[in-house]
Amino acid sequence: MKDISEKVPASKEDEVFIGEDGLLHCKNCGGARECIPAKSGRFAIKVGCLCPCQAEAENIKVLQLKTDMSDAEIRKARQLASIDPSFKDHTFENDNGSQPLMKQCRKYAADFPRHLKNHSGLLIYGNCGSGKSYAADCIANSVLNQGYAAIVTSFAKIAETVGNIGYEGRGEYYESLMKVPLLIIDDLGTERETEYMMEIIHRVIDDRDRSQKPLIITTNFTMEDIKSPKSDAWARIWSRIIRNCYPLHFEGDDVRFGSGFDRNVKMKKYYG
Ligand SMILES: [Zn+2]
Repeated sequence: MKDISEKVPASKEDEVFIGEDGLLHCKNCGGARECIPAKSGRFAIKVGCLCPCQAEAENIKVLQLKTDMSDAEIRKARQLASIDPSFKDHTFENDNGSQPLMKQCRKYAADFPRHLKNHSGLLIYGNCGSGKSYAADCIANSVLNQGYAAIVTSFAKIAETVGNIGYEGRGEYYESLMKVPLLIIDDLGTERETEYMMEIIHRVIDDRDRSQKPLIITTNFTMEDIKSPKSDAWARIWSRIIRNCYPLHFEGDDVRFGSGFDRNVKMKKYYG
């Protein structure tokens, strides 16, 4: 506690108000700027702490030391990290161990600073339900916890965003996909293959290749599909991906069924 309070800057009077709990709160986010350590007993001593918006600002400072992104770019990237509501629960700590290649994914995440420097990524391919997206989310969460920005998205989502933000915002959006330290594109090959979509795929894969930053792709395509692409367009896409992404072949039964089954076992215990 002592360590933390020494680092916490004193709150300026116009930034705070006294909440119902008698503690100082931030006018901006409403979060507490003071807390009472559990051990202080009868003589409650208030100790300064960081409110959520201060903690976020601290985190951004750390990120800026590690990347060449601006404040606004990092804030935006964090908002865009993933729109999947269960994303935060997809962590290596929560993994049920049914996919043996999670070990390699864990290694990748742990060595992320090195992969960022060498711009080395992963190509996670395999059948539906083998846990590819889950693995990608685990890597993203680990990388975010290390203080780097990461974006998990799909080409369908990118196309939707590009369609929604209008012409002016597009350049900025594409730039964030190029600059973010880790870009993960989930489910390559499931998007509708229109000319428009192929253009977007080309642009993002090419930009990312030029940015020399790591890319992780998950896909249901088989290695045969990848080695003998159905068109020149796909041949160019795969050649860029293969050049930068180490292939991991996810096999196995549907782990979603597996985890569903685990849940049923627990429920059975509950209902008796
Ligand atoms: Zn605040």
